Amino acid sequence: MVTGGAGFIGSHIAERLLQQGHEVLVVDNFYSSTRRNLTHLFEHPNFELLRHDVTFPLYVEVDEIYHLACPASPIFYQRDPVQTTKTSVLGSINMLGLAKRTKAKILLSSTSEVYGDPQVHPQTEDYWGNVNPIGIRSCYDEGKRCAETLFFDYRRQHDMPVKVARIFNTYGPRMQPNDGRVVSNFIVQALAGEPLTMYGDGSQTRSFCFVDDMVDGLMSLMATPHEVTGPINIGNPVEFTMLELAELVLELTGSSSELVHLPLPQDDPTRRRPDITQATEVLGWEPRAQLRAGLQRTIDYFAALPTS
Ligand code: NAD
Ligand code: UDP
Ligand code: UDP
Repeated sequence: MVTGGAGFIGSHIAERLLQQGHEVLVVDNFYSSTRRNLTHLFEHPNFELLRHDVTFPLYVEVDEIYHLACPASPIFYQRDPVQTTKTSVLGSINMLGLAKRTKAKILLSSTSEVYGDPQVHPQTEDYWGNVNPIGIRSCYDEGKRCAETLFFDYRRQHDMPVKVARIFNTYGPRMQPNDGRVVSNFIVQALAGEPLTMYGDGSQTRSFCFVDDMVDGLMSLMATPHEVTGPINIGNPVEFTMLELAELVLELTGSSSELVHLPLPQDDPTRRRPDITQATEVLGWEPRAQLRAGLQRTIDYFAALPTS
């Protein structure tokens, strides 16, 4: 089962699981996605799609749960912040209850946002973070922190096979063109010849992981033995400023778009880069795609999308 499986990362996991011969149930309420990411799977005999909001209980029989349901981009998770917290907290309780009853392994897609605006750089898993509990990002950050708490309490109370991945910025085909993340925004704007919206001076950094690498990492974590729980950082440790990203997008698209500077959103982290020592040692995983190659594939995807 893949909750949030109609979304960007979840649709790639669902597809990969089908390729490996598994039966796949996607559960999604389309809060930040549409059925489009899955239409190519509808005819597959091992594929099933259920429209359901994970904040409500769900009774199905499964043996592995990738629990990804949660809007991930600031404009989506801030559109209905109470629902965002409910999705992380009530959704995790329900999926953990389901995993407990069915004895399924369950993996949480947590986030680098649990580190907030980090004072430790790069971020290691033992860093407790620097998170504003009452700001506009808190519904997402604190929701995920509470989801992690629930995963570890279910582990301690019921010895369940839980896995917690802390995902760092991920990009690739099937990102929503309108979800406001920097990679999709810059590509869509460059292709349309519109100005690239640079928030702040562009000196803030992020480390971008291509979605195929992310799927490899998450599936490797799911395959680990009972004693491995994480939390474990999964991301690409090569760090870029947003200015560098903009220049690369302009070069690869051949666009002559200008940059327009807009205010930096509240609580926007200034630096972010994962320490992936644990992922390398415990999972034998490291990302392979370079940003240039991954961006080219993402640009090709957006260029081929119908414009309506
Ligand atoms: P996405 O928005 O494309 O996918 C999330 C999916 O969850 C959507 O299909 C949405 O409709 C669904 N959803 C939201 N609320 C739901 C609910 N209450 N019930 C059922 N479905 C619900 O985002 P994504 O980038 O694919 O992210 C997937 C997961 O990975 C999220 O949990 C996100 O927090 C995590 N993550 C992503 C990134 C990233 O860079 N993309 C970084 C860190 C963590
Ligand atoms: N739950 C669910 N599907 C299941 C089992 C449980 O959605 O197959 C939900 C149910 O709503 C419950 C929650 O998960 O409230 C937590 O379950 P747990 O067994 O931990 O606690 P309890 O049932 O005692 O509340
Ligand atoms: N950003 C930007 N222009 C945009 C969208 C985002 O400059 O059109 C910046 C944003 O302020 C942040 C970085 O790019 O510093 C990454 O933003 P995104 O929303 O993709 O991810 P997150 O902030 O959640 O890491």
